[in-house]
This record gives sequence, C-alpha cells and structure tokens, in this order.
Amino acid sequence: MMADVSQCRVGICGLGTVASATYNLLTRYAPLIQSRTGTDVTVVHVGCRRDHPDCDLSNVRVSRDIFDVVRDPEVDVVLELIGGTDPALALVREALATGKHVVTANKALIAEFGAELFDLADTNNVSIRYEAAVAGGIPVIKAIREGLVGNEISRVAGIINGTTNFILSEMEGVGNRGFDEVLAEAQELGYAEADPTFDVEGIDAAHKLTILSTIAFGVPLEFEAIYTEGISQVTVADIRFAEQLGYKIKHLGITARDGEGVELRVHPTLVPNSALLAQVSGVMNAVMVTSNAAGETMYYGAGAGGDATGSAVVSDVVDIARDHLGIPSAGYGASDMTTLPIKLIEDIESPFYLRLTARDKPGVMASLTSILSRYNISIESLVQRDANADEVPVVIITNRVRESAMNAALAEISEQSSVTGGITRIRVL
Ligand code: NAP
Repeated sequence: MMADVSQCRVGICGLGTVASATYNLLTRYAPLIQSRTGTDVTVVHVGCRRDHPDCDLSNVRVSRDIFDVVRDPEVDVVLELIGGTDPALALVREALATGKHVVTANKALIAEFGAELFDLADTNNVSIRYEAAVAGGIPVIKAIREGLVGNEISRVAGIINGTTNFILSEMEGVGNRGFDEVLAEAQELGYAEADPTFDVEGIDAAHKLTILSTIAFGVPLEFEAIYTEGISQVTVADIRFAEQLGYKIKHLGITARDGEGVELRVHPTLVPNSALLAQVSGVMNAVMVTSNAAGETMYYGAGAGGDATGSAVVSDVVDIARDHLGIPSAGYGASDMTTLPIKLIEDIESPFYLRLTARDKPGVMASLTSILSRYNISIESLVQRDANADEVPVVIITNRVRESAMNAALAEISEQSSVTGGITRIRVL
C-alpha cells in the first residue's frame, strides 16, 4: 500500500519516447498536479540502460537495471514503459507481487497477460492501470469505465491504429497511390515501423480491442478470439468505388454485445460518409461508443506520440495516488465477468461491399442477383462500370446478412463462368 495518500513516489522503467515525455510532464507539472489533485507526485527513481538527452535526471536515483526500480522500497508506483513482454511481464509481476502499483502503456502485455496481472493486483491489493495502452492520449478507458458507468453499452467501434488510418487516408487522396507506395512513405515519415506487420495486419488494433471489450462488456481478455484482417489487400479501386457509393474505407476495431454473444473483430470496413468516424483521417484515432443513455459518444485525438501518451500515463498515476475510486483492474470484478460466448465471424451480421469482375453478357446480372436472393441477400446499391470492355467491374452493397450466408453465396458466385478473377468483400459498418 502507498505510504501516504497525499504523497506518491514514482519509479520509471525505460526512458524511451513515452517514458521521457512522462518524466518531463511529471517533473514540470508537479505543482499543477498538486494543486489540481492534492497529491504530491514525485519521480524518485529511473531505470534506463542509457540516459536520455531530453531528461534532466540530476535529482533522481538512476539505475541501469530496471529491476532495481521495482525493488526500491521508496517507490510506490512503478511505470513499465519498456514495451514488449520480455522482460516487461517479469517486471510487472514482481512489482505487483511485492505490493507496488503499476502503470503501463503496453497493450500487448495487457491483452495477452492482463487476466493474470489483474488477479495478481487484486490479490496484493494494488492497482494496475493502462489508459495509455489504448488510443494513446485519448482517455477512452476512463470515459467508458467511469464516464459511461450508468449506461448499457452495445457497441464500441474505433480507429485505433494511426498507421493504418494514415495509409488508408493517403490512398484515398489524389494520385491513386497503392498500399505499397503509401506504406513506404509512412515508413519514411516514421508513422510505420521497418517491420510494419503488427500495424498493417491488425495485431496492434486487436490488442487494443481486446482491452476495450473487457472495459466495455466485462469480456475476459480474449486476444486469441479476435477475428483479425489487415489492410494490405485494400486497393485504390475499392476506395474509389466506395467513394461513389458514399463511403470511406476505414480499418476498424469493433466489439459489440447482444443477448447471444460478443463480437470481437478488426477489419477494413465501409463507413458511411455521414458517420463521424469517416471524418477521422491521417494518424488520428477515434473511438465511437454506442450506449443506451448517453447515445453515441465519440472520443478523438492523438493515438500516439510521447506527450499524448505520457498524458494518459500521468492521469493513471494520479488516479492511483488518489485511489478515490477503487475500481477493479478490469473495470469489472472477477465474479462479474460476462460468460457470454465470443461469436464466430460466420455468425456475425453486417452489410457487405462486394466487387467482382464479370463478362459483359446478357443474363449475368440476373444470375448474380438470383444467387444472392436465394440466400436472402438483397442489393442496396449497385455500380456497374461500362468500361466498353468484355469484362466489367460490378460493385454491390448488400443488406445486413449473416457472414455464413455470404460465404455460401460467394462460393456459388465464384463458380459462375461469367465471373472472372477473385471477389473482394469488405464489411460495412
Ligand atoms: P521506445 O521509445 O522504444 O522506448 C522503450 C525504452 O525501453 C527504451 O528506452 C529502451 O532502452 C528501454 N528498454 C527496453 N528494454 C529494456 C530493458 N530490458 N532494460 C532496460 N531498458 C529497456 O518505446 P515507446 O514508444 O516509448 O513505447 C513504450 C511503451 O509505450 C510500449 O509498450 C508501447 O507500445 C507503448 N505506447 C507507445 C506509444 C508511442 O506513441 N510511442 C503510444 C502508445 C503506447 P534503449 O533505448 O536502451 O533501447
């Protein structure tokens, strides 16, 4: 337990982008934090393999071994800001087991090991907080866990990875630049890693969605259960067709709950232009929450960057110091977690965008629509490009339909001799 609720002694592990910004915020704004919260938050120990030129460490203990921070009896709250799971998991385990509170920005750690760490925190009567792990500087976890506590939430849908949103926004712009070209630009600008797999294939978004689903619905952290599709297959042609039909293509994380189960999915999605999410471009993040009393609320801001993410870390530190809420780490107590199953993607309903290429002969459309109608799929909009060629692109937006019915219809359609090449399908919000 904390030595004194009005005093909070912080130890920081790592001194990279987020940690150095957090250190600077905590030291520069200590008087402001004290006057706004009545809490004296002081950084007493920093664990870093090398110093950082932007941080004046002259007034703190500095150790080259980050475990020294955890073992320092004068540290009340450990900030794990090194990332990855090794040695972050061991570090956080040791901190919680020895009665220290933990704040982390590490989505992979929480999504994959959160259940164990929450138990450990509860057993040792300490807190673990992770606001910065989802959507960087946007206080979305706090908004859902506290601001919307009097609501039944039905859906959370978000643009929770800045890299994929930047790439899709650039592909949408002038120049008809494809995925590979824009990815290379994103890497040059520092918006994408040298190995971009985590971002572009949706794994980073899946980590964050795992956490959002737990906070919103009390779903035990189910990272492995998430249906995940990245954006590498999205083409400029799809973006242009979607535009003609009044949509933007966004990479969304969606979690929703009804009486039967919970949806957990990350994939490219057609979002109507009228939806606020469609206006979110570049590296920005946004999370839209649908709930019964507050209705639709949206949280928008910087999903990354040292200062923005550090802002979320500081907020967690102050919450722990005040300890005024005593909220369980997962937002739900262990016995209150939902037992609803995670729905298979085949059982989830949504409208679909379909793009295929068909031979330009009489009867082709009739046979397509007859296959779709056999599976109770109706067409909401259709674009058939007269390309004055033997083959024409056909783009369809369907009504809301179960994925398994769509799979069966597409299997039949792809066997039609009039249909040439593959069929692109993107779910619509
Ligand atoms: P970063 O700039 O790479 O910093 C990581 C720091 O941890 C580096 O200073 C590194 O030291 C240190 N470190 C790693 N392993 C260590 C070890 N075994 N012992 C001692 N030090 C070690 O990363 P970051 O961007 O700040 O990210 C930190 C965390 O915040 C990650 O979990 C990330 O997912 C999360 N996050 C970041 C952002 C963002 O905008 N950057 C946004 C949201 C969440 P060296 O410098 O010596 O390698």
